[in-house]
Amino acid sequence: MSFRIAFVTSELTPLAKTGGLADVSGALTRYLHGRGHDVRVFLPLYAKIDRSALDLIPVEFLQRVPIDLGGRTFSFSAYATKLPGSDFGLYLIHCPQLFDRPSLYTNDPDEHLRFLLLQRAALECCQGMGWSPQVVHCNDWQTGMIPLFLRTLYRWDRLFEHTRTVLTIHNIGYQGNFPAGIADELGIEERSFLHQDDLRHGMISFLKTGILYADYLTTVSPTYAREIQTKDFGMGLEDMLRHRADHLVGILNGVDYREWDPQTDSLLPHPYSADDLSGKLENKKELLRGLGLPEGNRVPVIGLVSRLTEQKGLEILREPLPHLLRRRDFRLVVLGSGEKEWEEYFHALQRNFPAKVVFHSGFNNRLAHLIEAGADMFLMPSRYEPCGLNQMYSLRYGTVPIVRKTGGLADTVQLYDPEAGDGNGFVFDHYNAEAVVWAMTAALDVYQDQEAWTKLMRSGMALDYSWDKQGAEYENLYAKLTGVPVS
Ligand code: ADP
Repeated sequence: MSFRIAFVTSELTPLAKTGGLADVSGALTRYLHGRGHDVRVFLPLYAKIDRSALDLIPVEFLQRVPIDLGGRTFSFSAYATKLPGSDFGLYLIHCPQLFDRPSLYTNDPDEHLRFLLLQRAALECCQGMGWSPQVVHCNDWQTGMIPLFLRTLYRWDRLFEHTRTVLTIHNIGYQGNFPAGIADELGIEERSFLHQDDLRHGMISFLKTGILYADYLTTVSPTYAREIQTKDFGMGLEDMLRHRADHLVGILNGVDYREWDPQTDSLLPHPYSADDLSGKLENKKELLRGLGLPEGNRVPVIGLVSRLTEQKGLEILREPLPHLLRRRDFRLVVLGSGEKEWEEYFHALQRNFPAKVVFHSGFNNRLAHLIEAGADMFLMPSRYEPCGLNQMYSLRYGTVPIVRKTGGLADTVQLYDPEAGDGNGFVFDHYNAEAVVWAMTAALDVYQDQEAWTKLMRSGMALDYSWDKQGAEYENLYAKLTGVPVS
């Protein structure tokens, strides 16, 4: 049997991306469509989305639909479109008043309204199309209210009588917490459904509401599923998650190898494979030349592509990086944008080590691919990492990951053992400077042994984290929830 799945998300590659959620939304829905399911994706039509390249077809009966949010009426229009190379239904929610902003997410006082509208509009689209989803798959706080809406506002509609909800937590660090004053704008009369303690403390949390009411919860790696039930990682939601532990599963994200494989990557000047690694060297030269760093084939290049936030573990690099750069011969290529503090740190590092460090500030997909291909090592010292995609991309690109043992990093990278020759990267446990320096030094040492290094690269390149493997777990979950077996 195939399923009817409404997939509601605030990011979708290549249209709207700030991080891994976009990649996962794009690849998982493509996988599900490929498996014959009727999957329909709902995404805001952000100002940032380049409309000139899209064929936008107004959906009948879904033009200028009014939605009342606490006495203020907003209206949205739905446009159907298809992405190049995939032909599942994608519905863009047009509401310029809320989505014509310079970035996907904002700190504006109406941020909650922006995503309330997305959630309401997705459900109203199902109604307008007379389409009854068996599963509404929600993602992160931006869609966390949908399970409650289905139990309250939309309960009257038999269209949703058999609809089950899945909420995937991509990052528990973002909870969508708003002042309790927004309660009226939710449009639900039954206040008793809201988390009463939070209300007393003057707060409404979209993610928490989703955790309370979704039929099933998933997160993006088995280790993170365990971690978020503990005080160190649960960000205040650990007790609630432990309560729901029998409805919580960690499903590792997959990789879309159509986008991320060095053999077919159209963004690379020199494709390569495990059998012929010569292209990798050419990409390395291109990377160094392009960034104005001196070339040197046997000088290792460490890459880092990341949102520059506390989560990514930059704190433990702060002190030791300058020392390590003085002591050891390597190049460091950093691509990222985010908190000002870290932008300044990496700018300063580049100023102090102009022949060794390049920092490219901003979001640049082409450069991200070139770094994956041209670097020898990839650094992810994350404080926490729900899944992480870059370490899996790195493995496929023969770029040996140096990671902290947390979340999805722990599930995908195993410590290299020079004696036995097994493992695929450099893994450290403790969140401190000594540990990350130990791992980086170990990697730089092994790099000197060209034969061992090449073997290590090849063992990573042979691993398969494709959606063909991971996607089936979501299908099994939908089957369990709906009682309909997967065909
Ligand atoms: P997160 O979702 O926490 O940001 P992931 O590792 O799951 O981390 O996914 C990050 C994704 O975003 C990867 O595809 C990565 O290449 C991409 N990315 C992050 N920062 C940048 C940037 N500055 N430029 C281009 N791509 C970036």
